[in-house]
Amino acid sequence: MTDTPAADPKPSFRSDVTVELVKHTAGDSDVLWAARVSTAGEQSLEELQKDPERSRGLINYLMRDRHGSPFEHNSMTFFISAPIFVFREFMRHRVGWSYNEESGRYRELQPVFYVPGADRKLVQQGRPGKYEFVEGSDAQQELTARAMEDSYRQAYEAYQEMLAAGVAREVARAVLPVGLFSSMYATCNARSLMHFLGLRTQHEQAKVPSFPQREIEMVGEKMEEHWAKLMPLTYAAFNANGRVAP
Ligand SMILES: Cc1cc2nc3c(=O)[nH]c(=O)nc-3n(C[C@H](O)[C@H](O)[C@H](O)COP(=O)(O)OP(=O)(O)OC[C@H]3O[C@@H](n4cnc5c(N)ncnc54)[C@H](O)[C@@H]3O)c2cc1C
Repeated sequence: MTDTPAADPKPSFRSDVTVELVKHTAGDSDVLWAARVSTAGEQSLEELQKDPERSRGLINYLMRDRHGSPFEHNSMTFFISAPIFVFREFMRHRVGWSYNEESGRYRELQPVFYVPGADRKLVQQGRPGKYEFVEGSDAQQELTARAMEDSYRQAYEAYQEMLAAGVAREVARAVLPVGLFSSMYATCNARSLMHFLGLRTQHEQAKVPSFPQREIEMVGEKMEEHWAKLMPLTYAAFNANGRVAP
């Protein structure tokens, strides 16, 4: 891998995340094919078109009774660009996931940093395990944006100064904060994605509520949108059964 010098070393600030579906072999038929192999063998793909109600029923039964393995015979690869603090949480998901992240050793890190948007609730109320987030005041919004931007600028200047003085990228990057954007490919299957969504999104149909950090939830919501289009029957069964991964 080669170094790509920064085209414009001036910091820029983002309040959103990027999620692109770059590759997939994933459909409801993959679930049915796997589930029916013992009885119908190769005929099962044709049966999906022949009897959609039966297919819907089978997927729902598998989801409800937590027969999980038929949901593993598919693959989705996402390109994700998000702050490093999101990736720290993301990569805790070990099972059914593969990751490749951009290197801070082989290339100069670009100065793109996270600053929460106006719709990001800033203030936490209550105690851990039982708290909620509420809107911040205008003063809190202004302070957050200003403090973050100042701090990011200062950190990136120090990074640049060290690089200019010949310090290795892998050493100089230590000054950069977790609000820096990184990018990765993340590959999963429907079962591992459902487990992720159950933990990293909030949803009215969730039987077991979770309380994820908003920024990883933003990534999860975008992945969910892609997946829902690829596997509508599986997606509907996931919701109908309380968004618990089978
Ligand atoms: C709201 C929220 C708050 C969190 N807060 C913290 C925190 O404060 N500190 C912190 O460190 N983490 C925290 N986490 C991370 C959390 O503990 C998990 O590491 C993360 O959610 C990944 O879940 P997982 O292990 O189920 O997923 P995966 O690693 O994908 O594992 C999937 C499943 O495989 C099985 N499995 C995987 N590995 C093992 C194993 N070694 N032994 C037995 N079974 C295994 C389990 O059934 C597991 O559910 C938080 C997560 C959430 C959603």
